[in-house]
Amino acid sequence: MAIATEIHQEEKSPSKACNAEKRWTLSDFDIGKPLGRGKFGHVYLAREKRSNHVVALKVLFKTQLKQSQVEHQLRREVEIQSHLRHPNILRLYGYFYDQSRVYLILEYAAKGELYKELQKCKYFNERRAATYIASLARALLYLHSKHVIHRDIKPENLLVGLQGEVKIADFGWSVHTFNRRRTMCGTLDYLPPEMVESSEHDANVDIWSLGVLCYEFLYGVPPFEAKEHSDTYRRILKVDLRFPLKPVVSSTAKDLISQMLVKDASQRLPLVKVLEHPWIVQNADPSGIYRS
Ligand code: AMP
Repeated sequence: MAIATEIHQEEKSPSKACNAEKRWTLSDFDIGKPLGRGKFGHVYLAREKRSNHVVALKVLFKTQLKQSQVEHQLRREVEIQSHLRHPNILRLYGYFYDQSRVYLILEYAAKGELYKELQKCKYFNERRAATYIASLARALLYLHSKHVIHRDIKPENLLVGLQGEVKIADFGWSVHTFNRRRTMCGTLDYLPPEMVESSEHDANVDIWSLGVLCYEFLYGVPPFEAKEHSDTYRRILKVDLRFPLKPVVSSTAKDLISQMLVKDASQRLPLVKVLEHPWIVQNADPSGIYRS
C-alpha cells in the first residue's frame, strides 16, 4: 500500500543510545497498557527495549487509513511532526510499518488529554488558562517560524506531560506553507471567519483558534457554539462574541480574547504581543507548568 512504499522509515531514535541507522520493528518494544483509542487505531504505552525509553506507540490500520483516504494527511503529519523540537509540541520519534499497520513512536504524555481535564473541572482558573495559553503561543510562534500552520488547535488535540506542561499533539490538519491556503478543514467551533468563507488564510488562523481556546478554557464552552452548524457559521462570521456573567472572568482576560478574535486576520494580536499582554504577564507561570 502507498503508505508502506512512500514513507521511508524515520532514522532518528528515541534515545541517543540507539543506532542512528536503526530500522524499527515491533520486536524492539515491550508493549504495555492501552492509553486510548483513536479513529484509526489504538495507542499503547511501550518501552523501547534497548534504551528503556518509555514512549506511546500509536498503531494505525492501513485498511482504515485507506478507506478514509487519509494516507496523504498522515504522510504530511509524520513529515511535519518528526522535524519539530519544542517542549510544548509532542515529539514524533519515528515510525515503521508492517503489512497491515503503521506504527508511530510518540513522546508519552503522562497526564493524558487536556480535554478530559477541562471536562472534569468544567472550566480552568485564570492562572491555569494563562499558563496554557502562553505555552501554546510559544509553540505556535515556533511552528510559524518553521512555516508550519497548525490550523486545528482545540482541546482534543492537546495532551499534558508529566510535569503538567501542555503539548500540541495532532498535526493532521497542519500545513507546511510559504503561501496562503484555501483548503477547508478543522472543527467548526474553532474555524476562523476566513476559513468559514473558504477564502485565503495564513498563520493568523492559529491566533484565532488560540482566542477560541482561551475562551473555552475560561468559560468551559467555545464562544460561537450553537445548536445548528449554520448558526455557528453565522456567529463566527459576525464575530458574535459574548461574555457570560458566570463564571466570573477578569476584564484583562476578556480584552486579550477580544484582540485575538478579530475578523480581519491581519489585525489579530500577534503572538509575541499575546505573550506581552498584561493578563498573560500577571497570570501565566513562567515555567509553563501549572501547579494546582
Ligand atoms: P488519537 O488516536 O491520537 O486520538 O489517540 C487516542 C487516545 O490515546 C488519546 O485520546 C489519548 O488519550 C491517548 N494518547 C494518544 N497519544 C498519546 C500520547 N502520546 N501519550 C499519552 N496518551 C496518548
